[in-house]
Parts: sequence; C-alpha cells; structure tokens
Amino acid sequence: MMNSFKTNTATEGPKARFMQSISKIALVAVATLGISACSSDDPVTTSGLPTFSAPEVTTRDSGMVVSVRETSDVTIHTLTAPESVFANSTHLIETANSLVAIDTQFLLPNAQDMRAYADGLGKPIERVYITHEHPDHFLGSEAFNDRPVFALQAVSDLIAQNGDAEIAEKQGDFGPANIASTFVVPEIAVPGAVTIDGVAFLLEEVLDAEAQTQLVVKLPNHGVVATGDIVYSGVHLILAGQTDTWTTALQNLATSSAAYPIVLAGHGVPAAPAVYDTNISWLAKARELIDSVDNFADFKQGLVDEFPDLGMDAAIDFVQAILFP
Ligand SMILES: [Zn+2]
Repeated sequence: MMNSFKTNTATEGPKARFMQSISKIALVAVATLGISACSSDDPVTTSGLPTFSAPEVTTRDSGMVVSVRETSDVTIHTLTAPESVFANSTHLIETANSLVAIDTQFLLPNAQDMRAYADGLGKPIERVYITHEHPDHFLGSEAFNDRPVFALQAVSDLIAQNGDAEIAEKQGDFGPANIASTFVVPEIAVPGAVTIDGVAFLLEEVLDAEAQTQLVVKLPNHGVVATGDIVYSGVHLILAGQTDTWTTALQNLATSSAAYPIVLAGHGVPAAPAVYDTNISWLAKARELIDSVDNFADFKQGLVDEFPDLGMDAAIDFVQAILFP
C-alpha cells in the first residue's frame, strides 16, 4: 500500500489523490489554530558555533508568524503560515549584504507578503532555493520571479512537468486570487558547498523521505539546517512518503544534531533537534496503525491520541484516500 506513493504523475494515480487530498484539507475548514511551539526559547549556545539569540516572534497582518533569531553575521527569519493553510514555513537567511530564501509559501498572498517582508530588510535576494516539488513549496515562486530560483535537478524537472497542472487544480480549489498564475522553473542547484556573501552553505540531496527528492540546506559554520519536509515541527505530518525510508532520513539528520542545533522545518516553527524523535515516533505509530486498523477514523484517532500536543491534525486527512480508498 505504501509503495503506491512512488509515482511522478500528478494527473492520475496515488499522487493525484494525494494532491486532491491537499485540496480537501482546505474544504474541511479546520479552525485556525495557533502555531504550536516545538522550539527552544532559549539562546542556542553550542561549542564551536556562534550563539544565536532567543527567537523574537511576531505575527504579520497576513496571519503568518515570523520568528527571528540572530548572531553576529547571520539572522534567520522564518515565516510560518497559519495551520489552517498548512503551516508552511519559509526561511530567509540574512547575511551582511544579501538574503537567501528557502521555499516560497503556497498561497499567493502569503508569498507576496513574504516578498514584502524580505524587501523590507533592504537587501537583495541572492538565491531562492525550492526544497522539493510539492505545490505548497513552489507555487509562491511567482513572487520571486525576478530573482534567481534554484532547485535540485529532479525537483526542477518535476516542477517543469507538473507546474501548469498544479496551478489549474489549485486555482480551481482555492481561487485565482489565492494561487499564482505562473511559476518559475528553477535553475539547477548542484549538491555540495557554496559560499554566499561570505557565508558557507552546504546543499544536500535526500531521497525518499516526505518527497522523492528533497534539498537540505545547511549552514555548517552556524549550526543551522533547513530540512524541507523531512521535518514537521509542532504539527502532524502529511504522510506523503514511505515510513521506513523517511525514518532513515530523520535518523541521518539526528546523527549530526550536535553540529546543527537549529532545525528549520518545512512545516511549523523552528525547532531543536528533539523534533527528530517526535517525527520518528509519529512515523512508527503511523506504520503500526496502517498494519493494525482497517479504517481511516481509527488511524487518525490513534495518531491524535498518541500525539495530543501536535497541531494541524487535518494533515492526517491528506492520505485518507490513499491508505483507505
Ligand atoms: Zn510541504
């Protein structure tokens, strides 16, 4: 059953059902929940790494929550959408003279608000990195189409292949005012080290986690890792990948958690490395339930009961049609 997740086509099969269920989550009209904190509220001090300030948290008129923490030469801005619209997190890495954006929000108004926030920082956006091909991460790219947008080869290919269909479907579901009419086909990011405005970045490709191909962006000299959707922080997971290989990806990230104490998730607020254990436990519980229950209600309730502190339980609904057709 879980093998059926592995497909590229957005027009038929399990991927299409997954995408349709992304649409359904909005129709469920979940209440707007607060963003659950899974983050350390203390300054992060790790031997050999610069000390980051405690997060300063504000809320935009758009409803996006902004978390800012800084050290001498780098400031991290994370903009997280309300849980009612998937709690997508996008990040701006501010260096002395430039900005690096990671992901672009899902809804166009949020993408535009992210762009406005970035422009308000008064520095050029040197790079936009798209972590993976899911629409909630690349559909906001229209708001950044005058800047260099990059993704891994496989991700760029899938965006080029499926972008028009995603726009058509999502505009139908959310309305043309909420979904961009265009998207950017990213230039190709090559895994490896890159220096931007004097700051070292490390780009890594991770296969078969929440998406087939994920870009992980690390700042090795600052102890910051942006995981894309390998990590969900403070919210339930959207089970878009296979539990075993996704768990392996989390375990791999966890092995270097001492070197990367600040975790920037694809959904939910910035976290401490303890978030890996929560995600691993969630996937293990999901696997156990898949193997033991015969209906979606029991599957969902089992996860809600096991993880009462996680928000956005509507995330579980995404895979109802796939797991229990
Ligand atoms: Zn996502």
